[in-house]
Amino acid sequence: MAGRSNVGKSSLLNWLFRRSMARVAKAPGKTRALSFYLVNGSQYLVDLPGYGYAKVERRLREEWGRELGRYLATEERLAGVVSLIDIRHGPTALDLELLRFLVEVDRPVEIVLTKADKEPRGRRRTMQIKVQRDLGLATPPLAVSVKTGEGRAELLRRIEQLATAWRERQQGE
Ligand code: GDP
Repeated sequence: MAGRSNVGKSSLLNWLFRRSMARVAKAPGKTRALSFYLVNGSQYLVDLPGYGYAKVERRLREEWGRELGRYLATEERLAGVVSLIDIRHGPTALDLELLRFLVEVDRPVEIVLTKADKEPRGRRRTMQIKVQRDLGLATPPLAVSVKTGEGRAELLRRIEQLATAWRERQQGE
């Protein structure tokens, strides 16, 4: 689960998994600053640190970027990345940087537009189509709202699809 700070990531994690999520102290990966949660007994959700916080020192940011990059590029157990983007702003430069990197390393991505309730229906649709076009997606990204509950079942389904596709790839190897 990735996104810039304030995109609504922690709200969304609570909303999606509620009590079914248990934080795991001993992470299956070794990367620091990633939070691992065990969901439904057998799968981990990995919470990436929110990025784009201006006060993070540049050197630290670069170091962290390398570490995170290594994790995203090489972790075999990572089925995919859910990239959260605020529906009002669309992808930021850092979102685009992350997405380009994920395409480069062949990591499956699911784009999700957050805070859908903050835009009226018409503008919501316009934004979905704009982001689809700008990012060259096959279908418009899913819009969700923690406030209205919109998109929850569909997002869970899409996350499950990432996991299913991952299992199929493992079996194919
Ligand atoms: P994080 O920094 O990405 O973890 O973001 P938070 O989950 O802390 O959310 C940032 C702010 O956005 C908080 O004030 C939330 O209440 C608000 N927020 C998050 N999701 C939604 C949503 O779906 N709708 C609305 N209206 N506000 C939201």
